[in-house]
Amino acid sequence: MVKKVLIANRGEIALRVLRACKELGISTVAVHSTADNAAMHVRLADESVCIGPPPARDSYLNIPQIVAACEISGADAVHPGYGFLSENARFADILDAHNVTFIGPTADHIRIMGDKIEAKRTAKRLGIPVVPGSPGAVTDDGEALKIANGIGFPVLVKASAGGGGRGMKVAHSASELSNALATARSEAGAAFGDDAVYLEKYLEKPRHIEVQVFGDGAGNAIHLGERDCSLQRRHQKVWEEANSPALDDAQRAKIGGICADAMSELRYRGAGTIEFLYENGEFYFIEMNTRLQVEHPVTEAITGLDLVHEQIRVASGQGLSAKQSEIQFAGHAIECRINAEDPKTFFAPSPGQITHYHMPGGLGVRVDSGVYQGYTIPPFYDSLIGKLIVHGRNRTECMMRLRRALDEIVVDGVKTTLPLFRDLVDNPDIGTGDYDIHWLEKYLAAKA
Ligand code: ADP
Repeated sequence: MVKKVLIANRGEIALRVLRACKELGISTVAVHSTADNAAMHVRLADESVCIGPPPARDSYLNIPQIVAACEISGADAVHPGYGFLSENARFADILDAHNVTFIGPTADHIRIMGDKIEAKRTAKRLGIPVVPGSPGAVTDDGEALKIANGIGFPVLVKASAGGGGRGMKVAHSASELSNALATARSEAGAAFGDDAVYLEKYLEKPRHIEVQVFGDGAGNAIHLGERDCSLQRRHQKVWEEANSPALDDAQRAKIGGICADAMSELRYRGAGTIEFLYENGEFYFIEMNTRLQVEHPVTEAITGLDLVHEQIRVASGQGLSAKQSEIQFAGHAIECRINAEDPKTFFAPSPGQITHYHMPGGLGVRVDSGVYQGYTIPPFYDSLIGKLIVHGRNRTECMMRLRRALDEIVVDGVKTTLPLFRDLVDNPDIGTGDYDIHWLEKYLAAKA
């Protein structure tokens, strides 16, 4: 087993990892920027190392500083959390060269899945259903038009290096195509330094359904069911559920089995998420994330498995703790991402001091948060202040509990997205689970 884990992250996910380490009797090292001297992950860790000034590129993304912090503290492993360096293949390689265990997949697998064209090609080869589209990058507008006519408009131009919804443009007809190509290329070039783009059929009313997978790196792999993350704003997830209200047990077992088999063939190591769009009973792969996701607790709630324990086990060479036949899906879970953003002013970030803070409790209620009363949210990082995760024996019970838990929460001093969740939990479409990836944007537009 690894002995001392350096947590290369901040906020709620740093605490999440820290808790798992404590349970396993593993020492923890927090790293932090000067803006995070008073952060909870720093207070709770066994040791902490300051790695630089507030901007992330100088601290949480600063590889030499993090490697130095490993050497100073004697950490034998690094957990990257999500975001920051979690999907940086070079970071995984560098840790390897320093004999520090990266708690995640191999650098090669990170690289393949980080390039969306390569990822799609790999998924297809492994038997995963993909969105119809160009076989690779499109460089010539005439050739792009031929392909688009073949798959049928509307089509989506996507950046191979894409992330966070950037570099994506829809073309509804042939006349819009060259413009969409040019815009997506220049956006991708500016954002990622790589202007390669490809074409995909644009699905009009899909749901976003993703499958949680786990591999031991030696060819054993399991799936832990799916999460439905269709409620999104600007391609950012807002509310996630497990299981999806749209799937039955047979569909779950089928797509889950396809994903687990693919990961077994790939000899994938650690936690991964295979993301699909789901429309008219069909799954279409869009990308794979080679890290722990923000929304992993809903999977933990219905399976009882601790995904961070599992990541640490696998990274320590101890293999998976459960076989597929031992994984059971019990009840229903929903997660709300509580951001310091004002839903009334188009989600403008609202950093500042939290003057009053009270979180809910009771059966089936979990809060993962890195903040506390009196804490000042710095303006330098993402606006997630906590996640409320609620579990019930079925979706109805889960929604009842969620409504009650949302009523109990107090966060004063900053604006938060709580009012949005209090509206959503009483909405009839949400009540029946009848929503697609455009539902939330339409709902917000109608309210504005
Ligand atoms: P990113 O890595 O930038 O997040 P993804 O490929 O994961 O990009 O897509 C992000 C979101 O964009 C999806 O959740 C979905 O809402 C939308 N999207 C992506 N591909 C398609 C498609 N072919 N048709 C319709 N919507 C899509």
